Amino acid sequence: MSYDTIAAISTAVGEGGIAIIRVSGPQAIEGTARIFRSRQELGSAATHTVLYGHIVNPRTNEQVEEVLVTVMRGPRSFTAEDVVEINAHGGVIAIKKVLDLVLEQEEIRLAEPGEFTKRAFLNGRIDLMQAEAVIDLIRSKSERAFSVARKQAEGTLSRRIKSLRQTVIELLAHIEVNIDYPEHDVAEMTGSYISTQCGIALEEIQRLLKTANEGKILREGIMTAIVGRPNVGKSSLLNVLAQENKAIVTDIPGTTRDVIEEFITLNGIPLRLLDTAGIRETSDVVERIGVERSRSALEEANLILFVLNYNEPLHEDDRKLMEAFQGRQVIVIINKTDLPKQLDMVEIEQKFSSDSIVRMSVLEEEGMEGLERAISAMFFQGQLDANDLTYVSNVRHISLLKKAQQSLLDAVEASEAGIPIDVMQIDVRSAWEYLGEIIGDSVGDSLIDQIFSQFCLGK
Ligand code: GDP
Repeated sequence: MSYDTIAAISTAVGEGGIAIIRVSGPQAIEGTARIFRSRQELGSAATHTVLYGHIVNPRTNEQVEEVLVTVMRGPRSFTAEDVVEINAHGGVIAIKKVLDLVLEQEEIRLAEPGEFTKRAFLNGRIDLMQAEAVIDLIRSKSERAFSVARKQAEGTLSRRIKSLRQTVIELLAHIEVNIDYPEHDVAEMTGSYISTQCGIALEEIQRLLKTANEGKILREGIMTAIVGRPNVGKSSLLNVLAQENKAIVTDIPGTTRDVIEEFITLNGIPLRLLDTAGIRETSDVVERIGVERSRSALEEANLILFVLNYNEPLHEDDRKLMEAFQGRQVIVIINKTDLPKQLDMVEIEQKFSSDSIVRMSVLEEEGMEGLERAISAMFFQGQLDANDLTYVSNVRHISLLKKAQQSLLDAVEASEAGIPIDVMQIDVRSAWEYLGEIIGDSVGDSLIDQIFSQFCLGK
């Protein structure tokens, strides 16, 4: 497909050693050549080579910037179109001047956020699942999330979806031939044949969905709340976690209140610590929000770190909090084990399983490994597998896989009930379409726009 030519600064805004402008489209090389002076003509440069030279203002001949220009001719480029990348000095002013000159060239306009990746998708170089993985790559905040996204960007998961679709389309073809030419009796279109074929596809969907929970956690982090009465050591714990792990603090404005989150990884396990500002501002959780309100605040969390003081008897408020945690994933942190025991452990051991009770001294930084082990056991069925990184992690993919699964289950049920095959055909076809939506085979423009608008400018 052919489009106009787009350009944008592809590196992060701010001061840096270098900044890169990416230009993509039919006018990329010619347009840049008009403002680039070098010993060699840009237009005659071989693909995937770098030229040294200067960006000049063609009206005044003034040299604007000393640059390196990379030429990548389509289809062997990120967008599958002709791409030029201009490496300039990192200053905001310098790069802006160069970009302005590029944009003055005929038929070159500023790219929208995500438009480069969108073109790679529209030009068939990557599928939608891979494009979405590029967003995850940019956003990933832990090594493991990054590795998972890389795998997806390379297309590992896409291939599995495609082969799954192949199984479904073969079944669909059999059914359709049988409907159109009943006299041919192509395969024995018995209900049992359909159930068997659906069964094969269903097994694969199940295998993929099994990774979804862990995949989602790796991608998004475990939403974690640290809860406990005043002075039990919540903010000390938070500080130790954050210091050791270089916390990434993000402001998430919107919804009901502005939540401040800190994103940390505990030995590869990504945790999103919720409402850390609340903990830091006032350590009195019970007084500040009350048990009633803390109940609703806690609803967001996947994991509750409930901190108790080893050096104090159990308090009525502790019991109220424990009530509020019913049915939730809780790790009880018995803190201050460096001090003499005052806490009645029997009562706690009655309420929580021994795997979910961790003894710590935050002050002496003891017991961290125990905390890691407990979280790992709770969310990852033991060890995280470093090698198998094929996870379905994106909510959109998970929901489509579930829909495909339901359609196939409906088909199996219909075949077992002896319902005519035309009815099953509808179910099998929708399974095929749902799977297609995952990789972007059957999606509307508005969904595509929505997905790509999540990108940053220049990507
Ligand atoms: P919060 O109100 O729950 O956030 O508790 P803080 O983190 O502010 O801690 C309250 C007090 O307990 C501070 O003086 C900490 O230094 C102290 N503290 C925290 N953890 C420990 C620990 O493991 N051992 C001892 N002895 N003191 C601790």
